[in-house]
Amino acid sequence: MQPIELIPENNPTRLTGLLTRHDFHHMGTKIISSCPEQTFAILVLDISNFKSVNVFCSREKGNELLIYIADFFRSYWKDLTLVSHFRADTFAMLMPFTDQQELINMALKIHSHIEAFNLPFKILPAVGICIAPSPDTPANNMCDYATMAMKSIKGKFYAKYAFFDQRMFEQLLMEKQIENDIIKGMETGQLQAYIQPKVDMRTKEIVGGEALVRWIHPTMGTISPGKFIPVLEKNGLIIDVDFVVWKQIFSWISNRLKAGQKVLPVSINISRMHSYDPIFKQRLIDLSGKYEVPPSLVVLELTESTFLNNTTIMYQSMQELKDYGFSISMDDFGTGYSTMTMLKDQPVNEVKIDKGFIDNIEDIHAQIILNNITRMLKQLEKKIIVEGVETPFQQDFLVQHECFDAQGFLYYKPMPITEYESLLDQ
Ligand code: C2E
Ligand code: CA
Ligand code: CA
Repeated sequence: MQPIELIPENNPTRLTGLLTRHDFHHMGTKIISSCPEQTFAILVLDISNFKSVNVFCSREKGNELLIYIADFFRSYWKDLTLVSHFRADTFAMLMPFTDQQELINMALKIHSHIEAFNLPFKILPAVGICIAPSPDTPANNMCDYATMAMKSIKGKFYAKYAFFDQRMFEQLLMEKQIENDIIKGMETGQLQAYIQPKVDMRTKEIVGGEALVRWIHPTMGTISPGKFIPVLEKNGLIIDVDFVVWKQIFSWISNRLKAGQKVLPVSINISRMHSYDPIFKQRLIDLSGKYEVPPSLVVLELTESTFLNNTTIMYQSMQELKDYGFSISMDDFGTGYSTMTMLKDQPVNEVKIDKGFIDNIEDIHAQIILNNITRMLKQLEKKIIVEGVETPFQQDFLVQHECFDAQGFLYYKPMPITEYESLLDQ
């Protein structure tokens, strides 16, 4: 094997004296490619609640812990094994192995070493492991894969290590493809607002609808938002996608108003990422003005998590939007994304009871909970709508308890706007 020279200006000189991430990538790639007969793996360690050490103990204690971990890693640093301190509480090790059990043993040793460090509370290390698929795999890719495996168990105290596997690889490929294709998708009209009608369960009459985005992808077919929205929330592009959907809805309502056709309120979804967008409120007001759509025809659906960043600013924005004439609806009530606090403090007109509350409504306990929640919401003078009604039993129970508006597959699934239009025109 060729001797490996350190890049002089990047010699490890920091707190722990381990390799920098850059040197680790550079030297790791060289080692893996120069020993094709040997199998290698990269382990990435991260501690989910490391910040608590700095906050509840002291910065010195935090540094002490990092040096303690680094000492453990350093004791393996020889021959084909490299160790690195990427940043804060993230460490990595490249190691040769013959049996996977050796990797598991190493992950467990890292855990027990960290557990032995004296702290007043439990810290949660997670180790992600990526086995080099071939000798020409760059170490930085392997680090990404090991990090992905690590993140899949981060914060779960029962899981100590995870291997990067085929399923994660496919997920990663899909995320990359979504990131690559979404902008073109927006520009070429692949993103379409569908509408799911809301009905009055007593009469089955349509009382409004919710806009739900669909991506009509040229090769992957129709992709449901559950697949691509989480990816777009990570990179912020959800803001642009929402804007595309909002524009389609405003423009459609506007056309119908001009043609003198029947119009009912449509709900649009507001991703929690908008709380980072300073012009979010103005965008909605501008759309209403530009398309000459009265705000009373548009309901803004959002979850409590939207308020969690910038609480005061968001509260103010929602109040202003409500004063302007939009209705505010709290989505997914009861899922943890939306809770009681929001009812007390936030300017909410309507509450959407999550499907989870009625899934097992045959159960007496579920009935007691639903009963009391609806009673409370009525006392608070909130409009109630129930999501995910699928059976006549659920419908009858809800109507008996004076919840009349619903959205669910028992009545309609989300449909292209043209289909929704023909329902309205019937
Ligand atoms: P959501 O806002 O809670 O929307 C309701 C979801 O429940 C929709 O799924 C709808 O198809 C589904 N649903 C309605 N009735 C039933 C039922 O009876 N049974 C079952 N099993 N499901 C029912 P969809 O369209 O897949 O959307 C999933 C989520 O993606 C939405 O949940 C929303 O959080 C998000 N989303 C959809 N469109 C947009 C959008 O334009 N912008 C943003 N930010 N998020 C969106
Ligand atoms: Ca919604
Ligand atoms: Ca919902």
